[in-house]
Amino acid sequence: MTMLNQLKSAGWLREANYINGAWTGADDQRTLAVQDPGTGQDIGTIPWSGASDTRCAIDAADKAFKDWSTTTAAERAGFLHRMAAVIREHSEQLASLLTLEQGKPLAEARAEIALGADYVQWFAEEARRINGQIIPSPWKGRQLQVTCEPVGVVGAISPWNFPFSMLSRKVAPALAAGCTIVVKPSEFTPYCGLLWGVLAEKIGLPAGVVNVVTGDAAAIGGELTGDARVRKLTFTGSTRIGKLLYQQSAASMKKLSLELGGNAPFIVFDDADLEQAVEGAIAAKFRNSGQTCVCSNRIYVQDSIYEVFAQRLAERVATLRVGNGFDADVKQGPLINEAAVTKVQAHVADAQAKGGRVLVGGKRHALGGTFYEPTVIAGATHDMLIAHEETFGPVAALFRFTSEQEAIDAANATEFGLSAYFYSRDLARAHRVARALESGMVGVNVGIITSEVAPFGGVKDSGLGREGGRFGIDEYLNLKYISLGGL
Ligand code: NAP
Repeated sequence: MTMLNQLKSAGWLREANYINGAWTGADDQRTLAVQDPGTGQDIGTIPWSGASDTRCAIDAADKAFKDWSTTTAAERAGFLHRMAAVIREHSEQLASLLTLEQGKPLAEARAEIALGADYVQWFAEEARRINGQIIPSPWKGRQLQVTCEPVGVVGAISPWNFPFSMLSRKVAPALAAGCTIVVKPSEFTPYCGLLWGVLAEKIGLPAGVVNVVTGDAAAIGGELTGDARVRKLTFTGSTRIGKLLYQQSAASMKKLSLELGGNAPFIVFDDADLEQAVEGAIAAKFRNSGQTCVCSNRIYVQDSIYEVFAQRLAERVATLRVGNGFDADVKQGPLINEAAVTKVQAHVADAQAKGGRVLVGGKRHALGGTFYEPTVIAGATHDMLIAHEETFGPVAALFRFTSEQEAIDAANATEFGLSAYFYSRDLARAHRVARALESGMVGVNVGIITSEVAPFGGVKDSGLGREGGRFGIDEYLNLKYISLGGL
């Protein structure tokens, strides 16, 4: 039996919506085919649902909220601990499903599934720590107390680049807080979204607590934002769509988390450990073939080490093996679709036209499909597209700088503010630059920063709210102040 058939027959790949505890098609039976970006082959279909199926899912979540919100913290923690255990027990199947629909190398898929389990476990633990507060009263005979309540039904919209872990940090805190949820995954990677229905079923969650609807993004998003029963929208995706959903949510005054685009600077000072900086740049730039929101487009290198850093990075990038994510030793999978390749090509062509020098890569890979050669461009300047837009592909552009202040100013010269990285062995500089960078997250001498224990999120056009860490659950809670008199 092929791996695809195994995933289908074992029930990990489901080609239906999960609404109110049942697997259903679209109301008008429309479907959409889903392709493996590694081969271009169809791997299955999904319901092409719209507003009415979404309304059914909201109905179910609204009904389930009444009982779920009154479960004890220990009960909710128990469900989530079981969910984390199921994910870990079946991590190989889940990682295969992820590589199949997303294309990333299996080693990266395994890491994403493990991270997803870690988020679920973290929020299982946090469920038991949703504490209120007693405030010293300014009035005699009164007690002032603050309690935390679940916000209500949550709508969650997620992207294709981390289709499993992005949802783990939405579904788990929502459930831990006592909320119910309606999930809409990306049409490019729907099966990792539908997995949350599979997991809900496996651990015996009550019907309606988790619902997953696939299909027409604008119609589903319109319903999720337009329905006043949905009290919270959590979105990860592009800044353009995030702003649209922000506007759409205004009428019903929803609580919002928006995890949006980035354009991370990566600064290498001349006092850095060069080899570590090269490895950090590889991690920060080329993970998931450059398709991460915390990827660095803009690598700023100080004058005196510019040439040697450029040469070392290009040599290292030339060793990254490109291929199908299931093949051994592959470090770079395909891009998600043809539109992604077109954007990368446009950024590289623009950089070359403006004087950029391609040190390695710079074109489609000989494998064809949506494979693109890992690329390093030297001589990048701020008038290039790559300096201002997310490339979302395997292209590292090297900019030159002289002074620390010049590097900070250039790093901050963007409307985005998600993550930033720099390498330096000077302790005072490490503190100074970390404070000066306008960014929600900063990596100092590291290229990978995501962890379930830390708050993930951005400033400026990179969004609102934080996922993970002890702050992650606050996004799903309302505070209630009770002033208790007559004591
Ligand atoms: P996207 O086009 O904004 O899509 C994200 C999600 O929104 C998908 O589920 C998409 O559905 C849906 N969507 C599209 N149009 C919509 C509409 N009118 N109403 C409601 N939903 C709509 O972004 P993407 O290309 O998938 O993801 C890449 C972007 O996500 C990048 O900008 C990246 O930086 C950002 N990102 C941010 C973070 C973070 O934590 N800050 C993490 C990962 C990614 P379909 O796919 O089905 O069209």
